[in-house]
Amino acid sequence: MGKRDTSPPALRERLDPRAWHVTQEKGTEPPFSGELLSHDGHGTYACVCCGAALFHSEHKYDSGSGWPSFWQALAADRVRTERDTSLGMTRDEVLCGACGAHLGHVFPDGPRPTGLRFCINSAALEFEDER
Ligand code: FE
Repeated sequence: MGKRDTSPPALRERLDPRAWHVTQEKGTEPPFSGELLSHDGHGTYACVCCGAALFHSEHKYDSGSGWPSFWQALAADRVRTERDTSLGMTRDEVLCGACGAHLGHVFPDGPRPTGLRFCINSAALEFEDER
């Protein structure tokens, strides 16, 4: 974790075009298209760029939004947020706390106990099975 080369040239070479667009250009994958949307394995969801563990399957839920959704991050400092006023909306962007990759947005309409919905692009994540 955290030992990967996250320079733009290295990421450009390693990431597929969708993961590049989402994480480096603040893109959004089409809803219901992500590989990890309905993934229900037990383990962690890591940043596809730097490998930092960001979310855990225990906090994943089906929000119906079409994007993988979590009601909390693995730890508060694993992600950071920034106000995003693009596209005529005010949203809180979620970024990887370690490398700054764009992950998605967080909304205040999630389930208890946090009331948060981390709406995360599948393309920004990789699943690591926990045994
Ligand atoms: Fe990262």
